[in-house]
Amino acid sequence: MNVADSEVVVAILSDLGFELTDSIGEAGLILINTCSIRENAEQRIWGRLKAISHYKKKDNRIMIGLIGCMAERLKEKVIEKEHIVDMVIGPDAYRDLPSLISEAESGHKAVNVLLSKEETYAGISPVRMDKNGVTSFVSIMRGCNNMCAYCVVPYVRGAERSRDPESILNEVNELWANGYREVTLLGQNVDSYSWEYEGHKTGFSELIEKVALVNPLLRVRFSTSHPKDISDKLLYTISKYNNICKHIHLPVQSGSSRILKLMNREYTREWYMDRIKAIRSIIPDCAVSTDIIAGFCSETEEDHKETLSLIEWAGFDFAYMFKYSERPGTKAARKYKDDIPEEIKTRRLNEIISVQNKISARSKKQDIGRIFEVLIEGNSKRSQDYLSGRTTQNKVVVFPENGCKRGDYVNVHVERCTSATLIGRIN
Ligand code: SAM
Ligand code: SF4
Repeated sequence: MNVADSEVVVAILSDLGFELTDSIGEAGLILINTCSIRENAEQRIWGRLKAISHYKKKDNRIMIGLIGCMAERLKEKVIEKEHIVDMVIGPDAYRDLPSLISEAESGHKAVNVLLSKEETYAGISPVRMDKNGVTSFVSIMRGCNNMCAYCVVPYVRGAERSRDPESILNEVNELWANGYREVTLLGQNVDSYSWEYEGHKTGFSELIEKVALVNPLLRVRFSTSHPKDISDKLLYTISKYNNICKHIHLPVQSGSSRILKLMNREYTREWYMDRIKAIRSIIPDCAVSTDIIAGFCSETEEDHKETLSLIEWAGFDFAYMFKYSERPGTKAARKYKDDIPEEIKTRRLNEIISVQNKISARSKKQDIGRIFEVLIEGNSKRSQDYLSGRTTQNKVVVFPENGCKRGDYVNVHVERCTSATLIGRIN
């Protein structure tokens, strides 16, 4: 999501005559797009600011701005703590960049952290910063209305709002015309996407169908689904279109219904299992990935074991796994005690990672001997003679180039795998 936002920022700055540089030493304006989701994300930003302070010391005309969620959360406090920062800009204030930059140029600290109920940056054509020219993010909504007890997102990105489907389709058509072959539709809870115009309602199922119809050779991915909202209607739409990728990221967070209730996730372990069963029966061969938090407030060994057993049961192809990090202002920070000692959080996280690694390896081994359609994204990191792409299930495949190029679809016969990658040759 921050990559997509940075691309909007680059578009706004390009209109002002700025150019993007790969070399920070050349920059007259340095913007750092930030994340507040866990404390260590913010710690890294403070470290980054220290690391770049010498540029400002050498040339005081260089402007430094902190943008995104951390700017929203800390507001003026950023400037009090780090004097090299000239601008603090929240995620809904990017259209105000021209005036904020002039203010900073005139020697004043510039701050805009107003959140909006309407801003979706519709009408701005993001300038793609990714280099592959094949895959791209498309933001379909902003903010979040779910109040998960641990999560800072609703406070730093504001209320949920959906973007006009026409502007989404314009962006997707433009990407297709420019050679892109895959889009990932982004929202904190894509299942609650909703747009109404003259009595006609577009939900996420309708939206993704419209995007899939742009061209059968355009792959469509999406993230993130919420277990409480993901509908059978959406699953049937995914199964109907070959170009809607067979991969669902469905964050479970915990396997214990008691913890899920405290987290305010609005579903139980049984409900989540039912959704997985629905995915398996409506879309056979669909990969499922998840997010898990270890050591949430009051989590017992029993709760933790329920998470481990759910991971085993679901057989996730992939998971992002985190230690609970208390975020100031959230319901959990206000009402519950962050009472799981750090070493227990670490041990539980390691147990979760070890079970998941075993399952991820098993899922890759099962792919050996099979043939997958792969969209080529570029050269493999290790060798120019090898290409790299992904299957519809979002697994990375590496294979000898054989005269093919990025943007092509090829069928690859998988011969072996490493912990992260399938390796094969074009069939
Ligand atoms: N909207 C998505 C959802 O509800 O699944 C995910 C949003 S969040 C940016 C990505 C992940 O970060 C969450 O699924 C959760 O696992 C993790 N996360 C959020 N807040 C956290 C916290 N305070 N401590 C640790 N992990 C957190
Ligand atoms: Fe955070 Fe929950 Fe919204 Fe996801 S759904 S962004 S975890 S509040």
